[in-house]
Amino acid sequence: MRKVLMRMLEEREDEMIKIRRHLHEYPELSFKEEKTAKFITDFYQGKDVEIETNVGNGYGIIVTIKGRGEGKTIGLRADFDALPITEEVDVPYKSKNEGVMHACGHDAHTAYLMVLADCLIQLKDRFNGTIKIIHQHAEEEPPGGAKSIVESGKLDDLDVIFGIHVLPMAHAGTVGYHSGYSFNGRTYFRLKVQGKGGHGSSPHTANDAIVAGAYFVTAVQTVVSRRVNPVSAGVVTIGSFDGKGSFNVIKDNIEIEGDIRYSDKDTEKVISREVHQMVKGIEELFQVKCELDYVSDYPPLYNDPELTKFVAETLEQYKDHTIKEVIEFPRMSPSDDFAYYLEKIPGSYFFIGCTPKGVEQPYFNHHPKFEIDEDCLLVAAKAAGNGVVRYLSEYV
Ligand code: MN
Repeated sequence: MRKVLMRMLEEREDEMIKIRRHLHEYPELSFKEEKTAKFITDFYQGKDVEIETNVGNGYGIIVTIKGRGEGKTIGLRADFDALPITEEVDVPYKSKNEGVMHACGHDAHTAYLMVLADCLIQLKDRFNGTIKIIHQHAEEEPPGGAKSIVESGKLDDLDVIFGIHVLPMAHAGTVGYHSGYSFNGRTYFRLKVQGKGGHGSSPHTANDAIVAGAYFVTAVQTVVSRRVNPVSAGVVTIGSFDGKGSFNVIKDNIEIEGDIRYSDKDTEKVISREVHQMVKGIEELFQVKCELDYVSDYPPLYNDPELTKFVAETLEQYKDHTIKEVIEFPRMSPSDDFAYYLEKIPGSYFFIGCTPKGVEQPYFNHHPKFEIDEDCLLVAAKAAGNGVVRYLSEYV
C-alpha cells in the first residue's frame, strides 16, 4: 500500500503544482476565503467521502476518509488563508488579488494535502482506521480557525494529528522535526492609562498619564530580565505608545500596545502575572486608572516527543530521491494556531524545506518576495503519506 501510494503521488506531482499555482493566483485573506473553500470543496465532490463545510468560525472543511476496518483515527491539517501583502515575485501565476498574497506557503500546504487525500480515498479499501483531512481557514489572523475547529467537537475522535509547514531555511528534499516546545506562544495587549489632565504649570493638581505610562514601559523590561527563568525564553515588546498632546498640557490619558512571546506555558504564566501586577503597581504609584486588554491568542506549540520520533524514524527509513534528508530543526520563534490542536490531541508539526533553487539567501515567510521551490510539494505529500500509512498499520 505504501509503495502504491508513493507511486500515485509521484504521478500526480504536476497536479499538485497546478493546484498550488491556482491557489497562489487567487489568494484570500483570513475569514474571507469563500472562493478558496469552494475550490477545495468542489475538488471532493463526487468522491466517496464525507465532507463537512463551514466548520468552526469560518470556512473550515473536514473530509473524513474511512478505511476498510477498525483502527486509529488520524488527522492531517493544512491551512489555506493568505496575507495582506502585495506580491513582488514575478511569476506567471502572480497574485491577481491586489494586496493579497500567499506569502506563507499555505497554498502549497493545501495543494499537497488535496492530492494526498484523493490518493488515500482511492486506497481506502487497503488501510484500517480513519483519516480526517482538515482544510483550515484563517491561520494568520487571531483568533484563528484552529481553536474553533477543536471546539466544534468534530475532532474529538482523533487519536493523533499531524501537520506540515514549508520553511525556506532548508532546501526542498529536507524534512525537519522538533520534539517538545517548537514554536512560541504569543499575547497581544493594550493598556489604557487614565490620569487627570492639567496644566504644565500645576502638576500637583494633575495625575500625569505620560509619566505613569513611561514608568510602565521601563518597568515591564524587567519581566524578562528579572522574572523569567533564564533557561526559558520570553520577550515583551512595546510597539506603540500613543500619548500625543500639547507641550504645556499634562496628558489625561495614554494608550500602549505590545506583543509578548514565550517558549512554554510556565513562562506564559509568569509573564502574565507580572504584567498584571505591574499595572496594579502603576495605578497605586501614580493614582491613575488602568485598563488592560490581555489576549493570549496562540499558545506555544508542543510536539509530542514519542510521535515526533516515530514519524522522523519512519521518514528516515523511507528516504528516497524526494525525501533526501530528515533532520532536527531548532526551536523557532514564530507562532501557529496548529498549537491548539496539539493542546488537545497528541501529534507533531513537521517542517518542509522550500528554498527556491539557486537562491543563497531566501526571503522568509511573510515577505513580499517569499517564494518556494515547488519540489517541496511532493516531499510534503510523501512525508505525510508515509507517516499516515505507517501509523495506521502499526497502531491498531
Ligand atoms: Mn503559516
